[in-house]
Amino acid sequence: MPLACGAAHVTPEAVAKHEAAHIVVGVRSGLKLKHATINPTGTMLGYAWFHGNPQGIHREALALMYAAGVAWENGRSPGDRALLRGVCSGRLAELAMIRAADCILVVHGALIERVARALLHTGTLTGADISAIARGEHEP
Ligand SMILES: [Zn+2]
Repeated sequence: MPLACGAAHVTPEAVAKHEAAHIVVGVRSGLKLKHATINPTGTMLGYAWFHGNPQGIHREALALMYAAGVAWENGRSPGDRALLRGVCSGRLAELAMIRAADCILVVHGALIERVARALLHTGTLTGADISAIARGEHEP
């Protein structure tokens, strides 16, 4: 799944926060969320799946969304790093995306917490759910 990224964490809380980081950075970067889940699927414990063309107009926004997973895990998210590498022109571009994603994560810490709580409550969220959470609705 080129537009989704798997997480490899131990607790549901850690998976929810990781996926919430992808969701918030992706949506704030202009991407539309298809859905995100913390229900295990195959070898993944969770993922966030966005609409977008990684070789077209969504390339930079997708790079930021992938970089969010790397930033959230302090650089220790090899799956996200590989996805990021696939849409960046080189190492400096990857580092710039990780630093920019980290800034977005810091600014939107409270929203990430609300999205993570909603994921823990429902297991799966859609783009409409995220819009409702951003408006202050759908608090679990
Ligand atoms: Zn990830």
